[in-house]
Order: sequence, then C-alpha cells, then structure tokens
Amino acid sequence: MFPPEFERSVSAEPDAAELLAALDGEAVTSVRYNPFKLAAMPAEAADRVPWNRYGAYLGKRPVFTLDPAMHSGAYYVQEASSQFVEFLLRSAFGGELGRVRILDLCAAPGGKATLYSTLAGPEGLVVANEVIRARAGVLADNVKRWGVGNVAVTCNEPRDLAAYRHWFDVLAVDAPCSGEGMFRKNREARVEWSPAHVEMCAARQRKILAEAWDALRPGGVLIYSTCTFNRRENEDNVAWLAENFAVDPVDIEVPSEWGVECGEVGGIATFRFWPHRVRGEGFFAAVMSKAEGRVKLETPRARREPLAELNRPESRPLAEWVATPEAMKFARAGDNCYGYYRPVCRDVAALAGGLNVIYSGVCLGQVFGGKLRPDHALALFHGLAPGGYSVTELTREEALDYLRKREFGAETLGRLAEGLNLLTRGGLPVGWTKRIGHRSNTMLPNSFRIVNL
Ligand code: SAM
Repeated sequence: MFPPEFERSVSAEPDAAELLAALDGEAVTSVRYNPFKLAAMPAEAADRVPWNRYGAYLGKRPVFTLDPAMHSGAYYVQEASSQFVEFLLRSAFGGELGRVRILDLCAAPGGKATLYSTLAGPEGLVVANEVIRARAGVLADNVKRWGVGNVAVTCNEPRDLAAYRHWFDVLAVDAPCSGEGMFRKNREARVEWSPAHVEMCAARQRKILAEAWDALRPGGVLIYSTCTFNRRENEDNVAWLAENFAVDPVDIEVPSEWGVECGEVGGIATFRFWPHRVRGEGFFAAVMSKAEGRVKLETPRARREPLAELNRPESRPLAEWVATPEAMKFARAGDNCYGYYRPVCRDVAALAGGLNVIYSGVCLGQVFGGKLRPDHALALFHGLAPGGYSVTELTREEALDYLRKREFGAETLGRLAEGLNLLTRGGLPVGWTKRIGHRSNTMLPNSFRIVNL
C-alpha cells in the first residue's frame, strides 16, 4: 500500500503503473568494492554497475554482517543508482579529479563519502559532514573501515562549513528528503511520507543549499541529489538554484542504454533513476558549476585547539607503522596520534581550528613510553606497514568470533604469537589482539562489534 496522495502525485507520469509495480517488487542488491584494499575486482563482481568502476550487482542478498570482508572495508553495501555520482564527478572533471577538496555536506552513513574518498585518493581531501552526532559516529566508523586516510569527519551545521569560503572544489549535497525512491527498500519511508513532509523537505533542502553555497569555489562543481521522485524537492529546487545563484551548466553525456532519464531545468542538467527503468532504486541528481569570478579563499580564525604537528623525533615511533612514512605527516590531538597524507595535513589543521572534527586522516593509536598502542583504524588503513607485529590468518568463524568479541578457543589461541597480532581473514585485516600467555585481549572497539547475530 502506498499513501494515496503519493499515488496521485505520480499518476501524471507516463508509466505510473509500472513505477508502482516496481516499487512493490524486490530491491536490487549491489555493492561497491574498495580498490585500495583489493588488487582486482573479485570474481563475484561479474555483473557490473555500468556507471561506477567498482560497483557490482549481487544475485541474492547475503547476510552482509556475517561477512568479515565487509568489516575489513573490502566493499560497501551501496544502492546502485546512488553510485552514479562517480560518473557525474569524473565527467565534470574530464577523468581524474587531481588534488581536490570535496565537501560531502550530508554524509552519514557514508555511502557517498567512501565513494568520494576513493575518487579523491591520497592527494585529495574529503570533508564528510553530518549534523546529527550519533550518525556522525557511524559515519566515522565507516570511514575508518574504508581506510584510505583522506577524510575528515565533521559534525557541524552547513553554515559552519560555509565559513571556509571558496575552499572546496566540489560541494555534494545529498539532501535529507521524503525518500520516495526508497519505498521498496525501506517500507518505513512510506509511513513517514505526506505532502506536508515533502514541503518541509523541499524548504529544508533550499536552506541547506543556501547556507553551504559559500563553501564552493568559483568554477567548482555542485552535485545536488535526493532519493525521491518528487519534483518539489528535485526540479523545483534546481530551478530555484538557477534563479538565485550564479550557476553554470556542466555538460554530461549519459549512454542511453543505461535507462537514466536526462533532463534540464534552467539550463542545468538533471538525472533521474526510475526503478522500473534502471537496475537500482529511485534517485535524482543535478550537476552544475559555480560561475567563475575572482574571489579570495578564506579560512576562519582558529577558535579551537589546532592539531599539534609532531616533529621528526616525535614522529619516529609512528612512522614505522605506515608503508609510506615519507608521504605522511603526524600529529597529536589529546592522547591520540594521527597520520595524514602530506598534501592535506595543513587543510585538516585549518578545519580543526573552526569545526567540530570528530575524526580525520588515520588514527594510529596512542604512544606510551615511546611505544605505540595501535588503534583499530590503523589495522584497517590501506597503508599499514608490514612487520612490527605477528599476522594470524583466521577462519571465517574465528573472524566472526573476534567481531562478536567472543573469547577464542584453545586451538585459535595456540596459533597466536605472544604479544601483538594482526588478525586477517582472506588476507584482509580484521583487527588487533594481544596475546598474553593463555589470554588474548581483543582491541576491537565496541562500536565495531557485531551484536545480535
Ligand atoms: N550521503 C549519505 C550516504 O550516501 O550514505 C546519505 C545522506 S542522507 C540522504 C541525508 C543526511 O542529511 C542524513 O544523515 C541527515 O541526518 C542529514 N541531515 C538532516 N538534516 C540536515 C540539515 N538540516 N543539514 C544538513 N544535514 C542534515
């Protein structure tokens, strides 16, 4: 059952009956693999998502929580249509993005943030912002799992980010919306839907866009997206952007066989994914650039304790844990030590001065008496150095025991070396444990633990 007003609102679409039938059908299952962790796309990725280099459809939906590879950040379970933002950005930049700063303004739980992290690579920076604190924590954990080390997770209002005037090459606003496109994946979305909710969402989307606009540099690219079909939240808001802001079109050619509906509003390209025409859920995106102009990049004056960059002797116990220490800088915040790729260290320090940065770069751990107690994020970092610890490969069941924080049996314990062990499954790091005699002390944080399964 759909809300009657929703059925009425889509009845004007040429194939409304097919749309409603598709929304009552099975959701498509897809994932996006992590090229920083896998040397090649795995065999089960044969059925590829056409608009994303690392996306693949799966024939049936496994219990992802029971797959250690997901916990290792080998892939992210991401709905196929929303993986389209990779195609949009690569098209807008004519291929590789180079040294970009991407602001993902509405980022939790992190599907697009991890995609942008892959795209930006070690030279780039992604600021993944989430206004709701609990959701920002989940986002930070997903960023740690993904393990590229080029993301700063912030928990701020959009206007706080705009104080970093003209800082960003890309502003991605994946706005909170009425969720019509998720009606088959998430049945609750149907219950929450009402015409009044649509209007509230449309107004909130305009507020978010208006507040964040200053963060984008002239010539930079704005991607506005929602997971709804509603024209009030989509085309009407793009028209409002074109009327009220200095935007330029960005030309993007989409192969017709993909089934994406390409449109134009006020000269701005729009893309709509109908679940009865594409293999994916409902999705809408518009891409435009900020008109060129001479402006000064502005960084607000630091109001918070900035990151304390470590000098060479202080960095030494940290540098030996990363594969390319020459490419990184090290810093400290409280007890925690962090690693950053050199190009972004200064940027993160500037962000930390004015924003609520809850995670950034890669947390290496805490140094006590000149020795590092490694953090879980370091185990999941793609640039973890080999050596300095023992490596123990686990069976799937043992890896799940670890992820459930259950004690290892005697046989498993017997295979662990005394001291620090990096536990792997299929060669992918799962986490750390420390064996002391007949005990193994897990170093898995509670937020990474599998519960109830
Ligand atoms: N981009 C995410 C992904 O791909 O995983 C999904 C983002 S979800 C569609 C929208 C997010 O916007 C939610 O996490 C929500 O908490 C956040 N949000 C809600 N109200 C907001 C506001 N007023 N300003 C900014 N973000 C907001």
